[in-house]
Amino acid sequence: MSTGKRRVSLPPRTTSQSASEAEEALRTSELFNKSILNSLTAHIAVLDENGVIIAVNEAWKKFAQENNSPDPEAYLGGNYLAVCEVAIQNSDQSANQVDLGIRAVLNGMRSQFKAEYACNSPAQQRWFTITVVPLYQHGQGVIAIHQDITESKLAQQSLEASQLILKNALELEKQLARTDPLTGVNNRRYLYELAEREFEISQRYQQPLSVLMYDIDHFKKFNDTFGHMLGDQILKIITDTAVKELRSADTIGRYGGEEFIILLPMTNAEQAYALAERIRSAVAATNVPTQKGDTFVTLSIGIVEKSYNVPAESVEEIFHRADEAMYAAKQAGRNRTEIGD
Ligand code: GH3
Ligand code: MG
Ligand code: MG
Repeated sequence: MSTGKRRVSLPPRTTSQSASEAEEALRTSELFNKSILNSLTAHIAVLDENGVIIAVNEAWKKFAQENNSPDPEAYLGGNYLAVCEVAIQNSDQSANQVDLGIRAVLNGMRSQFKAEYACNSPAQQRWFTITVVPLYQHGQGVIAIHQDITESKLAQQSLEASQLILKNALELEKQLARTDPLTGVNNRRYLYELAEREFEISQRYQQPLSVLMYDIDHFKKFNDTFGHMLGDQILKIITDTAVKELRSADTIGRYGGEEFIILLPMTNAEQAYALAERIRSAVAATNVPTQKGDTFVTLSIGIVEKSYNVPAESVEEIFHRADEAMYAAKQAGRNRTEIGD
């Protein structure tokens, strides 16, 4: 039964027709690859198994021209490492490392090599990543891709710089919040914090700890006679004198107006007494020139040793006992040191 349709038979393909189609397909594929390579901003070079440049893209040529490199076409056939040597050697990344990386990819030892380097071009320092991947299979060449990462590097550097500024500012603020502005030693609030810490350590390891409190004698009279400004200077001079006598483990803080506390870890009351006497006599021996003639100030000092009773003595309690010992020194005639109960 006929369907009414006419059967059409196609002529058989000839060998020459299929060969030209294959050539056409190859040309199209090459054109395609070339336009992709040239559309990329990365600088790309294709190297043969000896590291000789066999192709570069437009971005590579443009960069070479902009950086005063002679005849970019000459790179074709040139040795890749010799071409890039100057740029890479000027960077943290040594040319030798890049050389080894490329060889490892060529040998099939590595499937990829990636590194970062700074290129000191005449115009401006720029940063790149270099990525090396195999061309086909190992032993048949590699593709070296140089990606300009300058913008993100600069952004990262400026971010790091602002983070550092912020960190330093916060550190300074923290430091200021802990420091007495006149004398530069720990303020009352931070002194308590440090004392809590020292108490805990002394309690845990059952080590002695002494607290020394000093107060300037007749300081109100000194201010009234010589002025508040000189009074401020005296506070600074006394603090410096005391600090000179301290070990690095000791802590000094301004407890009140003209009252200071020194925490002495690993120190019993007798040892603390010797230190207190050194500070007291050094202060009393310091000559203070004024418009009304030379003068000097003296200190009354109280010392107590931390008790190991249970429950543990609090910072507040020991400071109170140190205050009582200091008051006892006042009562006993001032310019002296008393060890409290
Ligand atoms: P005492 O020997 O009993 O300690 O007598 P005092 O006069 O030192 O004691 P008082 O507590 O009566 O007075 C303390 C004085 O310390 C009063 C105040 O003007 C002075 N003072 C406190 N803080 C400062 C300060 O920062 N600068 C100056 N210049 N004086 C201060
Ligand atoms: Mg006083
Ligand atoms: Mg006082």
